[in-house]
Amino acid sequence: MPHSPLTRPRPQLDAAAVRSLAAAVDADALITSPDALEAFRDPFGDAGSGDHLASAVVEPSCLDQVRDIVRIATEHSLTLWPFSQGRNNAYGGCAPRTSGTVLVSLRRMNRILDVDERRATALVEPGVRFSDMYAYLRDRGHRLWSSAPDLGWGSIVGNALEHGIGYTVHGEHASRICGLEVVLADGDVLRTGLGAMSASPGWQVHPRGFGPTADGLFKQSNFGIVTKMGIWLMPEPESYLSGVIQVPRREDLAPLIDAVRPLFIHGIIQNHAGIGHPAFVAGIMDGAPSRREIYDGPGPVPEEAVLALARSLGIGRWNMRFALYGTDPIVRHRFAMVRDAVSHIEGVQVTGEQYAGHEVHTAAQDQNSQVQAGIPGMGLMRALDWYSGPGGGHYDFSLVAPLQGHHVQRIHAMLDRMMAGTGLDWDPAMIVGPRFLINIAQIYFPPGNEEITARAYRLYPQLIREGGALGYAPYRTHLDVMDVAAEQFDFGDHALLRFNERLKDALDPAGILAPGKQGIWPAGSPHRKTAPAR
Ligand code: ADP
Repeated sequence: MPHSPLTRPRPQLDAAAVRSLAAAVDADALITSPDALEAFRDPFGDAGSGDHLASAVVEPSCLDQVRDIVRIATEHSLTLWPFSQGRNNAYGGCAPRTSGTVLVSLRRMNRILDVDERRATALVEPGVRFSDMYAYLRDRGHRLWSSAPDLGWGSIVGNALEHGIGYTVHGEHASRICGLEVVLADGDVLRTGLGAMSASPGWQVHPRGFGPTADGLFKQSNFGIVTKMGIWLMPEPESYLSGVIQVPRREDLAPLIDAVRPLFIHGIIQNHAGIGHPAFVAGIMDGAPSRREIYDGPGPVPEEAVLALARSLGIGRWNMRFALYGTDPIVRHRFAMVRDAVSHIEGVQVTGEQYAGHEVHTAAQDQNSQVQAGIPGMGLMRALDWYSGPGGGHYDFSLVAPLQGHHVQRIHAMLDRMMAGTGLDWDPAMIVGPRFLINIAQIYFPPGNEEITARAYRLYPQLIREGGALGYAPYRTHLDVMDVAAEQFDFGDHALLRFNERLKDALDPAGILAPGKQGIWPAGSPHRKTAPAR
């Protein structure tokens, strides 16, 4: 007789494995009670799927404990899912891809091992949060800025490994990594780049070593557990401007993107900008009307209601935040160039707040000004509740496109077609990089409502396939759709996936590390679509 979703039993570890793990870590660092494990569920997951339930959580506090855990996993045929803070809730939080997996929480390994003011570099353990780094730099009076994504509770390491984006000059976190320390499935510990040379003084300054650059193999991967990471920091600029471009009509999006593209390619706008929908802005604005107040029918919210919302809030139909950094005259000149570049769009408004770099920590009050100066916060959490009230959830369907208006139009037309009639709410938030744009379609649902949540998750693979059919790939995904996302990378009869699988077979033949992450399954797994390496 099948279990209902809520009574489905959690997979359990056998007693010998529990004893070995408990002996390997600190006294309170093994969690096996079902109640305590609830905190490690996918917070916005589909309760009915029951696919992502951990059997235990183990929290090592040092490198040797990580190595012991890997050894025990091999001895007891366990699978492990490492995470650093596990806060990327739109993509599954800290839940594992397959049920029964033991979560390896690296939250206790949270030391900032080094910050070098002259070189503008840092070396951190995986549990260090953006908020920890910010506090550390401020407490010690460093004139350095770290980059943070919109929510400051995640880890620097997990976000960078997962290709996360922040909003200072160093916002492309994955490409600001400079040196990793990694525990492999067989317990070997390697350091990448110049860290591979024990006597090198330059692990955090030069990102490459001698031979193939291994760092990339540990990003969005299941080939190792990262226990240290170097990053580059940004020197505090003399002057900083947090700006917003507002355009009034829905059809202004493509012209806006085409107008700002040269500003990114020439480095006039130096950070990753963000383009926001009125609903998203309303979600974090005090006193803004709620979803129900502007439209009471099923989702998506119709265009007239969106336009009325924008008008009532005095914001654009599209709102692009961006930042400029430098000396005062350079920032002013860059700002004039931004104004010029978009001045042909009828009804456009460009505004900016300029700060002296050293005063931004107290002077910047709004979320945009703060996050573009690397000041982490949690204000954006509120936006989740805008659609369905407190306790709202979402997943993100995030496609990468060239930074050209017509590509974004194609993606939005596809989304309009796919979302019509679903009854689900969604809105796009766009991250604008130097040559690309990531269109993050945020699909909202109340996780407490199983029917709506299941409907939303049924749609997810269809969205990935539709995006793939148009040639657009997700830059990261929720656990549920990692296989279907990997399938979209079809060149050479999926040569990239087969390459990844060959590496998996060589590095982790027993498949103990994060099986299924990014669609990479070990040999022998029933999920594996391609043949094992010979
Ligand atoms: P955040 O702390 O930003 O919320 P997570 O810790 O959830 O990020 O990391 C996102 C994903 O990246 C994890 O689910 C895991 O697959 C991978 N990951 C995170 N940290 C590590 C690590 N230290 N070693 C290996 N993989 C990691």
